[in-house]
Amino acid sequence: MPHIMAKAWGLGLAFIAAAALALALRPDLRLAARVAWNDPRLLPAFVGATRVHYEPEARACAQAVAEIAPRAIAQIETVHGRAFAQPPIVGVYASFENYASANAMDDPGIAAVTRAGIALLSPTLCSDERDRLEGVLTHELSHVHLSGWRPFGAPHPPQWFTEGLAVMASNGGGAEGISDEEAARAIRDGYRVVLDGRRWIDFAALGFEREPPRDPTRSALTQRQRLAYRQAGLFVAWLRRRNETAFLHLLRALEAGEAFEPSFKNAFGDDAQRLWRRLNSDLSDRSDAN
Ligand SMILES: [Zn+2]
Repeated sequence: MPHIMAKAWGLGLAFIAAAALALALRPDLRLAARVAWNDPRLLPAFVGATRVHYEPEARACAQAVAEIAPRAIAQIETVHGRAFAQPPIVGVYASFENYASANAMDDPGIAAVTRAGIALLSPTLCSDERDRLEGVLTHELSHVHLSGWRPFGAPHPPQWFTEGLAVMASNGGGAEGISDEEAARAIRDGYRVVLDGRRWIDFAALGFEREPPRDPTRSALTQRQRLAYRQAGLFVAWLRRRNETAFLHLLRALEAGEAFEPSFKNAFGDDAQRLWRRLNSDLSDRSDAN
């Protein structure tokens, strides 16, 4: 018996050694392990609003989030035209380091991230960027809403659409500092964001038909990101105004896990690129008339 025990021990140790080796060699596994370790659901939940989990030092921020959450949830349900699939979970962090570990990007510079259907908020939203808290929380809840309904493994809609939807549904969350008018003027002047399959988290890689002129008051990445987000938001808002029934059909199809392009065409009877060009020329015509 002791022999078997020793053998089991040996196997156990070998397994642990193999796991440790795998973690050492594979940065993606190491990140996954850190993300699991930093899952916000392991944090205490706010009393009275069990869906807001927070680091103890972020209690005041969690309280603010808990106060905002009901109206942010109501707003997203109104625009998306449906209740959440399940009550949304929000993680509130006090430590930039833990937030970066939990957000799976390993980047504390991003104000908020929705990962695995959970919205994670950076400590900056309760300090330097407190005025963005409500808009960014509402924006993230749009992502949580869509991902909560989509079946596991369903194709991802392009990020220009999910970001545009979130900006529109949150009245500009994530695109602060750029107004609809500024975004429309940039479109007219040819500084149009390219709506393709690019990842919109990589702000340096966002494509514009013409490179927008630099705004010295903002960082180049922030400027590119916010202009792109606001333009995408403008487009999604225009689609919704044009045909709200089609817009809701598209959302229901995406929630059912259907692919974006055929769903879009089904709903609007045209493809997104062509309608984007139509919005561009509508905006340009309007400027000619003025
Ligand atoms: Zn977003």
